Amino acid sequence: MDKRTAPRGTFDILPTDSNRWLALERAVDELCARFGYGEIRTPIFESTDVFVRTIGEGTDIVDKEMYTFTDRGGRSMTLRPEFTAPTARAALEHNLLQNLPLKVYYRGPIFRYERPQKGRYRQSHQWGAECFGVAGPQADAEIIALGMELIRRETLADVELGINSMGCDVCRPAYREAVVAHLKDNATTLSENSRERLSRNPLRVLDSKDPSDRAVIATAPRVDSYLCDACREHFTAVRALLASMGITPTVDPKIVRGLDYYTRTVFEMSAGGLGTQNALCGGGRYDGLIAAMGGPATPAVGLAMGMERLLMAAGPRRAESLNGRPRTEVAFVALDEPSARSLVPILHAFRRAGISADMDYTLRKVDKQIRAAGQQGARVAVILGNDELARGEATVQDLTTRERQRVKLIELEHDVKERLAR
Ligand code: ATP
Ligand code: MG
Repeated sequence: MDKRTAPRGTFDILPTDSNRWLALERAVDELCARFGYGEIRTPIFESTDVFVRTIGEGTDIVDKEMYTFTDRGGRSMTLRPEFTAPTARAALEHNLLQNLPLKVYYRGPIFRYERPQKGRYRQSHQWGAECFGVAGPQADAEIIALGMELIRRETLADVELGINSMGCDVCRPAYREAVVAHLKDNATTLSENSRERLSRNPLRVLDSKDPSDRAVIATAPRVDSYLCDACREHFTAVRALLASMGITPTVDPKIVRGLDYYTRTVFEMSAGGLGTQNALCGGGRYDGLIAAMGGPATPAVGLAMGMERLLMAAGPRRAESLNGRPRTEVAFVALDEPSARSLVPILHAFRRAGISADMDYTLRKVDKQIRAAGQQGARVAVILGNDELARGEATVQDLTTRERQRVKLIELEHDVKERLAR
């Protein structure tokens, strides 16, 4: 057989690494619960138009990155490239918006056809949170504080929080017009990609990372001078609330989130020392999305964070002695086949009693079994050979003191539990 590899841009999470993932997932669950967010799980694929109609044409995701396929029933399906649209779809489908505010979080894989590189994959993982039904700035501040707190707990990285306002239906059109005029005046110096975007999603040009666009972007009109009073007030209040929690964002007019549905607050969090793929998190307010999906007008704000990048920012993993296997408290060591068979129900009884226990079924040399058990973190070994078996006993060895003792099999569980409790 040919050498098989995982598809380009995907990776396996091996037992040696999955404990870091598990720890991060638990931290997300725990923190989101503490902030009052309940978990939502949606399918990993949706009808394609769930994404096209919300994320919008002229965005990287819809134009270039979606994994879209026709299923056997002839329907167009797409592997989710993000969670906001599926979350909104589910909230509408199950009438969750009748009882506001609705606060939900999610975590899991996303799929984007990207050029793979460090920190950029075709299957990656996000966690995120959405708050529906709160128009006021407290929701924006809470979502940002939740993201900052997770990063603070899980990484040592210096985090930069950039924030901006995209305005609303009232003030954005004039701003958009001014940006279009500026870009058209400078169209000849724009990158091909940006020239193409100019007609379809002009604000997105401001988000371009292409060096040839830099000069034009730097001289573009800034949104702050176009914001209406209500948007300006909201933006000021969000920053004041963040400051009251000890969070100091940098106002960055270059932050224009790529997706069509954002209004008012948009933000990004990035980590020092991660190089070009330094964006950890993006999010913002999207007051128009639910109505655009055919639901009742519902304000909303959310964030999404990349979990691979979080783990990169967390630094190298701690030295791992457990060989990727979970810690075992008790090791069962059989000297021969009949002893091994007799140990099977005892091992099972220990496990049912809540003790993590394991047995080396290969029957290799006793000292090798015991050494491996020690490396696995075991504190007690239960050794059984034909001599012990004949007497209805086992040899119990304390792996810390090396001291051995015979124990009746009927007293074994009690004896070992006492040793573990010491
Ligand atoms: P970028 O500008 O880096 O492409 P984005 O705007 O596409 O980012 P979002 O859609 O805001 O990213 O997703 C939120 C976060 O998810 C990102 O900040 C990043 O940490 C992570 N992320 C997005 N795409 C990928 C990917 N292909 N591989 C790994 N992480 C990703
Ligand atoms: Mg992207």
